[in-house]
Amino acid sequence: MKKYAAYLAGEWVDASGGCNAIIDPASGEAVSAVPALTPRHVDAAVRAAQQALARSGWASDARLRADVMLQWAERIEKNVGALARRLTLENGKLLGEAKFEIGNQVNVIRFNAGLARALSGHSHSLGAKVMGVVAREPMGVVAVISPWNWPISLLVRDLAPALAAGNAVLSKPASQTAGVSVEILRLLVECDGLPEGVVGMLTGSGGSVGQAIVEHPGIDMIAFTGDGATGKGIARDAASTVKKVALELGGKSPFVLCADADMDKAVSTLVRFIFLTTCGQICTAPSRLLVESSVKKAVCERLARAIEGIKVGPGLDPASQMGAITTRDQYEKILGFIELGKKEAALVAGGGAVADVDHDKCNFIAPAIFTDMDPRSPLVQEEIFGPVLTVQSFASDEEAVHLANDTPFGLAAGVFTQNLDRAWFLSRGIKAGTVWINNYNRFYAETEVGGYKESGVGRMAGFDGLHEFTQTKHINFDST
Ligand code: NAD
Repeated sequence: MKKYAAYLAGEWVDASGGCNAIIDPASGEAVSAVPALTPRHVDAAVRAAQQALARSGWASDARLRADVMLQWAERIEKNVGALARRLTLENGKLLGEAKFEIGNQVNVIRFNAGLARALSGHSHSLGAKVMGVVAREPMGVVAVISPWNWPISLLVRDLAPALAAGNAVLSKPASQTAGVSVEILRLLVECDGLPEGVVGMLTGSGGSVGQAIVEHPGIDMIAFTGDGATGKGIARDAASTVKKVALELGGKSPFVLCADADMDKAVSTLVRFIFLTTCGQICTAPSRLLVESSVKKAVCERLARAIEGIKVGPGLDPASQMGAITTRDQYEKILGFIELGKKEAALVAGGGAVADVDHDKCNFIAPAIFTDMDPRSPLVQEEIFGPVLTVQSFASDEEAVHLANDTPFGLAAGVFTQNLDRAWFLSRGIKAGTVWINNYNRFYAETEVGGYKESGVGRMAGFDGLHEFTQTKHINFDST
């Protein structure tokens, strides 16, 4: 078991006050331990961050920020292999996916390092002797609270633009994947030029450290990614100190499959992102297939063939095609939905137990596909966050849009068709922050992500993601 320290106020803090163990979901063994910090540590970190902003040039020196971030990216690039291994041990995902997740942060950080130097406001001539300058300034002390499913992507997605914009940033990683998160932060704090106190990593539980962050009057903004219920509580509690809150929450994303689509590509893409990638534990997972009635039977047969024999096993085993469910709670929740599906719906394929594993210790679940359920069933309406797909059919594009929008969520959607008019109609009609046409789950540093409806408020990544971490100030020069 590897022991980690937390980092705050320019110092590493060990676990003398208690620690949380991190369990490998593929074996049930403890693989990491991180300090369980307390609200007292949050307060010390906030004070150090405020002092760092007041005393250093961090907020005003974009070149310094870009330089530090470029060093950070290079250091991650040199350590992808070891970081990915730790990510797989803590999260259960396949090693190949973990390497992609870590490696991609190099590109995200480099993009944001460039943006640091491109951050700009605007000016207006408001009269013969009047000029209004609208400057973009950092928010101040920002907290980034992140989940365990793509823990490094979702940490860096917010940490990088928050730093680029000139903020001090305190990160509260998910407890389940805090060891690898600390390793990523270590690579940042050892960069030349980073002022002490500008970053911190506050490990500990959501109920203690997370809640103390939300309530602390010295924190100016919270960028939260996680469960909808947690996000709603954060928005409520942050209101008492009028903090800015950006929320990236859950999803129940539709995958609209028209009869004219390239079926090979559509089915393999769907299988990849609802089953193989992170076992469907992705906020944007295409968990609801909406298929044109005329091809429903044929598509269900293809899906059944595609999931037959998928090998579920440890992420470090090169033979595994699907890894482990990250937490025991999540494992039990998914099994509960599969049981519900067997009672309330028709099983299309899958839904069996994974053979030859110790189910008391290892969180392995095979894919399950259901159809013929009531559209109001929790199977269709609630985020399962696992390898469970529901299939509904539509007879017209209007009906497809209606079904796509018929949940409280609006995070993402996929549309598969060769017909441009249908692609246009469907993508404009679906209420979601991202709509992929003839592809799925393509994320770029340049393009924004975020939710409609209960999937969130605010936008991350891209230019809007950078601006999310700023506030504007109008300075008015009047010499009349
Ligand atoms: P979670 O809400 O349980 O935890 C997320 C983070 O919040 C963790 O760091 C946790 O410790 C912290 N937290 C918990 N209670 C808190 C509190 N009272 N105050 C402050 N912080 C608190 O979510 P999870 O189970 O880690 O992640 C899964 C959820 O995240 C799913 O709903 C998924 O859809 C969502 N998600 C959304 C996106 C997106 O970009 N929209 C991406 C990935 C995951």
